[in-house]
Amino acid sequence: MKHKTLAVIGAQWGDEGKGKIVDLLAKDFDYTVRFQGGNNAGHTIVHNNKTIKLHLLPSGVMHKNITVMIGAGVVINPETLFQEINSLKKYNLNPKIKIDYRSHIILPTHILIDSASEAKLSRANLSALSTKRGIWPVYSDKTARIGIRAIDLTNKNILEKKINIIYTRHKNTLKHLFKTTMSLSKKEIIQKLLKNGKKIKPYLDDVSVVLNKAYNNNKKIIFEGAQGIMLDIDWGLYPYTTSSNTSVNAVGSGAGFPAKNIDSCVGVVKAYLSRVGGGYLPTELENSLGDEIREKGAEYGTTTGRPRRIGWLDLVQLKTAVRLNSFTSLAITKIDVLDGLPEIKVCTSYKYKNKILKEIPADIEIYEKCQPIYKTFKGWEGSYTKNGKYKNLPVNMRLFIEYISKSLQTPIHIISTGPDREHAVFKN
Ligand code: GDP
Ligand code: MG
Repeated sequence: MKHKTLAVIGAQWGDEGKGKIVDLLAKDFDYTVRFQGGNNAGHTIVHNNKTIKLHLLPSGVMHKNITVMIGAGVVINPETLFQEINSLKKYNLNPKIKIDYRSHIILPTHILIDSASEAKLSRANLSALSTKRGIWPVYSDKTARIGIRAIDLTNKNILEKKINIIYTRHKNTLKHLFKTTMSLSKKEIIQKLLKNGKKIKPYLDDVSVVLNKAYNNNKKIIFEGAQGIMLDIDWGLYPYTTSSNTSVNAVGSGAGFPAKNIDSCVGVVKAYLSRVGGGYLPTELENSLGDEIREKGAEYGTTTGRPRRIGWLDLVQLKTAVRLNSFTSLAITKIDVLDGLPEIKVCTSYKYKNKILKEIPADIEIYEKCQPIYKTFKGWEGSYTKNGKYKNLPVNMRLFIEYISKSLQTPIHIISTGPDREHAVFKN
């Protein structure tokens, strides 16, 4: 790939295999950058019999010459950050890491609030089924302008002032809203954060400045999305979303890198759907076929271990992803999971009452009544796992791939046929 700057974005509900695609493409790059979300993400990378699970660090870590970066739009739990850095040591990986001064810090009290609020929302059936990592509370404090940033951990004066405000708010929220007591003292929290500040300091930098300088020096950069477009806080299936913007547009705000300087954007599309969390999924397979695909695709969350819900590919949903991201190409992943099925379905539009809908309605009660209209494809035999030529893929698999490409008016350049870096077919 010749691109200087590339974004890799989840085109569905997350867990499309972005980590694998970033790892596959990262060989010739200098930087991989996360720009939104936190350790609610989970990426699994497989290469040379090593399986690495990442939650916060970008998926470039397996490549020794890459610097991995965390932009200001990312939220950081320092404890899990240090654990993740340590966990890489057993693979002999010691990546160069830069974290933006301005990224916000997840406090233990954010996690307490996240857990306590989940029970309430679940009862109203309005829960996105939180990963309970404190993600929404930290973004909520960020927009309330009382959040703690990474740089604040290195400044006792500011940290104490901010914790004074935030601690009282969190204590009252837990006590009055969720009838829970605060189990941590203010002093304990401050001491822990100052300790974390000392540990995080060597990694802190001005990521936007570093990236823009690198760009001007012709360095190659990959921006790595977390979650997927349907979980975008503005354009996803609100309220069953995550708490950040997940499209390529968030690179600008989250990494401080101008969107116009991103040369290309790869949308990662799983050959079927999977989703953790609540909300209606029109093509959901709540039957033995769904169970079979879940088992074959090992569809259990990297972060939480939760079984993922399974469904057929949904082109209405994918057209939303294309519109919002203007993908220059697509990577189709996990196509091997569909090997051997007699037939494969793709949803082309929705039926609502007597109307055909081509867009996802904003009203979630209307959406819940939308029925998928399917086009059915014949399946294919065999398994096609190693690096190979596109023309050698089974004809029915190619018909399926080409239909998706044509419907989305976007070329497909990568077909991923297994979890390992070697399991990939490049098209053109
Ligand atoms: P991400 O969050 O988008 O990075 O995706 P995850 O890593 O959470 O989930 C994708 C899972 O599928 C991981 O366990 C990958 O190792 C695995 N995977 C990725 N691509 C393929 C593929 O083409 N075939 C199969 N069978 N597994 C894949
Ligand atoms: Mg994942």
